[in-house]
Amino acid sequence: MANDGLISPFDIDDEGYFWLKGNLHSHTTNSDGKPSPQERLDGYVNQGYDFLCISDHYTITRIDTVSAPDDFVLVQGAEIHPENPFGGQTHHFLAYNIDEDMDSKRMPPQHVIDEVRRQGGSIWLAHPHWSSVNILRDTLPLHGLAGIEVFNTTCRCAGRGESSVHWDDWMDLLGRPIPALSNDDSHALESENRDTYGGWNMVKVKERTAKAIIDALERGCAYVSSGPEIRDIQLHRVDDMGDGKQVVEASIRCSEAQSILAVFDSHGTEFRDRTGHGKTFEDATFTLRPNVRWVRFEIIAPDGTKAWSNPMDLAKVGR
Ligand SMILES: [Zn+2]
Ligand SMILES: [Zn+2]
Repeated sequence: MANDGLISPFDIDDEGYFWLKGNLHSHTTNSDGKPSPQERLDGYVNQGYDFLCISDHYTITRIDTVSAPDDFVLVQGAEIHPENPFGGQTHHFLAYNIDEDMDSKRMPPQHVIDEVRRQGGSIWLAHPHWSSVNILRDTLPLHGLAGIEVFNTTCRCAGRGESSVHWDDWMDLLGRPIPALSNDDSHALESENRDTYGGWNMVKVKERTAKAIIDALERGCAYVSSGPEIRDIQLHRVDDMGDGKQVVEASIRCSEAQSILAVFDSHGTEFRDRTGHGKTFEDATFTLRPNVRWVRFEIIAPDGTKAWSNPMDLAKVGR
């Protein structure tokens, strides 16, 4: 896991790379979802997605039990729920690229994380806002989680879909940036128009494989969304006017935005906002404070949907 050095998808050489769109959290009749695994998969294929994880509770839905088009990538995984010895609710973790089921219900959370990683898999904290996670109490004692699900469509229905406060809190406590996911956690049939096709991950990869997709997410070579598109983010050092000190300037391009937010490691923010003026915009520039360690961006569309960049480390910005 290469968490201590995230790579911006907008900084890597475009040669050979392409974007893929996918959802990594969905349920079927193998747990408490309504559609069969094949119906769930067919829905995401028909919506133009490139990848999907059927992440049933406690149990791996085998990718060889469904049939997908050749260029569609199935990520094999599960949502697993170890006990929580720290006082909060039972954990909700998403495990990807695993092959062996485990009795997570009876395992301490660190053993579950270690077992996923022993299998070569990747394990993430799901919807902490919805499950009332206290990061300091429930999450910080654990080691080896790859990152956080910052948006969850089905939890949005209950009013607790966004976990960006938990994300910032966790990074602040860890003292380093971690990457995010945005997922549907779809349980309903798509005809119910409830928790399908509302949250997704955009990853930049060179190969259409489950390994390349999860690696890109772990390295931060992605952005996540519930609507808007992030087209480019560039950070560069400039000489500040006057005192000769260098500052970092950030330029963002995106689809139609009502607000663009820059969120700094110390939880400070700056924003560009046209709310109330009836105008939208598709780019913005920020001059960042000299003591900022990392920055992430949120794009808010006129309909209230959002896109979240991964955090970017300012120490890595060249002249
Ligand atoms: Zn869950
Ligand atoms: Zn779930």
